[in-house]
Amino acid sequence: MPKISGKLIIFSAPSGSGKTTLVRHLLTQEELGLEFSISATSRPPRGQEQHGKDYYFLSDEEFKQRVLAGDFLEWEEVYSGTKYGTLRSEVERIWQEGKTVIFDMDVVGGLNLKGLYGDKALAVFVMPPSLEELEKRLRGRQTDSEDKIRQRLAKARKELGRSDRFDHILVNNNLEVAKGEAHNLVKIFLGK
Ligand code: ADP
Ligand code: 5GP
Repeated sequence: MPKISGKLIIFSAPSGSGKTTLVRHLLTQEELGLEFSISATSRPPRGQEQHGKDYYFLSDEEFKQRVLAGDFLEWEEVYSGTKYGTLRSEVERIWQEGKTVIFDMDVVGGLNLKGLYGDKALAVFVMPPSLEELEKRLRGRQTDSEDKIRQRLAKARKELGRSDRFDHILVNNNLEVAKGEAHNLVKIFLGK
């Protein structure tokens, strides 16, 4: 059982649903007092990504050693050969600052964290309006190859089936409406 001295907000969704967009929006709302949990990954940086800002980039060997040392609250091989995980130290650092931790996480990881923290965590599933729209957003983002888009859509079909295990399902159709709903959910959960 991890030590609990604060609260957590988890935004999970199939890739392309808009969870990063919504989490970035919430992080601009200073009155909510949120700070993003930077994950560790064994994949190399992409584009402008920086160590300690976007991810903690570890070699596969370093990642394995930190798993053995018990440094992760949860970790997963999200895509074949690529591991991602939440560091215990990251959550403790944010709580020590008196802030609430916010996560942008895949569905299995999100449910694992919710299982660890129960009522201290708000788990939100960001639902795309349809699989067709999800595909359109993945293509529109222009960050993934055709092969990656197909992998992500296959994963999405499985993930949609787990949406009912979350505290809330937030349909991201109109972005401005979804931002407002996300803000309200967090505000109510934090009693602000
Ligand atoms: P995720 O983090 O879930 O993979 P992103 O936040 O990267 O998703 O969003 C995927 C793409 O869809 C981005 O190009 C983003 O700008 C766009 N997007 C997000 N929300 C909406 C929305 N409500 N309507 C249309 N496009 C959206
Ligand atoms: P990307 O490589 O596109 O940055 O992220 C790939 C996937 O890994 C996304 O679905 C993202 O939500 C997930 N992810 C990022 N960090 C973590 C983490 O700490 N734990 C888990 N389980 N998944 C993560």
